[in-house]
Amino acid sequence: MNTLEQIAELERKYLLQTYNRYPLVLSRGKGVFLFDIEGKRYLDFVSGLGVNALGHAHPRIVKTIREQAAKLVHISNLYYHEYQGLLAEKLCSLSGGSSGMSRAFFSNSGTEAIEGSIKLARLAGHRVGGAAKSRLVALEGSYHGRTFGALSLTGQDKHRKGFEPLLEDVTFVKQNDVEGLRAAVNDNTCAIVLEPIFGEGGIYECSAEFLQECRALADRHRVALIFDEIQCGLGRTGTIFAYQGFGVTPDIVAIAKPIAAGLPLGAFLAKEEFASAISPGQHGTTFGGGPLACRVALEFLAIVEEEKLLENVNRVGAYLQQELKELIGKRAAAKEVRGRGFIQGIQLDIPARPIVDAGLAEGVLFNSTQDTVVRFLPPFLLEEKHVDKGIRVLKKLLGKKRKAAA
Ligand SMILES: *Cc1c(COP(=O)(O)O)cnc(C)c1O
Repeated sequence: MNTLEQIAELERKYLLQTYNRYPLVLSRGKGVFLFDIEGKRYLDFVSGLGVNALGHAHPRIVKTIREQAAKLVHISNLYYHEYQGLLAEKLCSLSGGSSGMSRAFFSNSGTEAIEGSIKLARLAGHRVGGAAKSRLVALEGSYHGRTFGALSLTGQDKHRKGFEPLLEDVTFVKQNDVEGLRAAVNDNTCAIVLEPIFGEGGIYECSAEFLQECRALADRHRVALIFDEIQCGLGRTGTIFAYQGFGVTPDIVAIAKPIAAGLPLGAFLAKEEFASAISPGQHGTTFGGGPLACRVALEFLAIVEEEKLLENVNRVGAYLQQELKELIGKRAAAKEVRGRGFIQGIQLDIPARPIVDAGLAEGVLFNSTQDTVVRFLPPFLLEEKHVDKGIRVLKKLLGKKRKAAA
């Protein structure tokens, strides 16, 4: 029972048909490489959608999982374990100490971190403005997850269609439209929710000016400014929190993808002014914040620090950007490079999926999003030589050369 055809056939028969997988069965990984069941090697520019920031089978993560799995995996949130408080303290400290976040709640996924964030914003809103202070502002083109709350904030019809009615109290604004933002936010707004850099939406950055206006309006109307850093956060932009590179601090920040090196864990962190709106019993989770996931997350953060991985993200990310920009000059189908660090995208004027498909034969995993964007979310361990390999393959796959400018 182990050829690609047999595995795919079984899934076709028994799985809810929600995914359109690539024809590839992976069996192990090492660093920035993955290996399929036949032993063929692939260079990984995807990191399991931004999750495997330490690559695959990092020795310290393997050791930590082994040790903790033999001691205690799950206890529920009825009891204390050693690691949840330590992880919350570490994240709050990294978020900016007294000018950053004060408290954390741990979930199992990014979507749940968003759900918790908007529940907290509703409580805080109702506390200062009564039941009417419940409206949410989100951005067109955004992505926040698949549950009803997170989907209600997701500004893309393709994800929403068929699931209506969603939360009705959401106003959508165009990214970086300051006038539109001013028109949308008022005293009945309880939260502005945004990704500082759109991930699934195609790697579009919010401008500093737009984020500053979000901050100013949130302060004026006592609104929770919520940043979804589930994809761009925890080092991918070259700072631990993406907002540290934009100079605007939110009131609540949602994180997830890389936090526990592949184990399911998410979190939202909040400033005290908002955190204090919730009481015991008002929110909870069975699995969230367990001893295995929290201890691995502490190890993840320690490794990022001790191996100086942010420096690597900044240096190799700049190199990746430079190389992608050069590609624009050389290949007719390549139009624009967006993003920073290890969250970048190259805009094509042709469909991206065939490029990604063809990458498999070349031994490189790319990812496409929004039909025409090739997205790069590589492990933080990626080196210049890996970039060179990826660019070489992309160049080949993009085919036709750009004509020299007249
Ligand atoms: C992935 C993602 C989510 C959803 O996280 P899950 O872990 O899939 O629930 C939410 N927001 C952003 C920006 C994401 O990239």
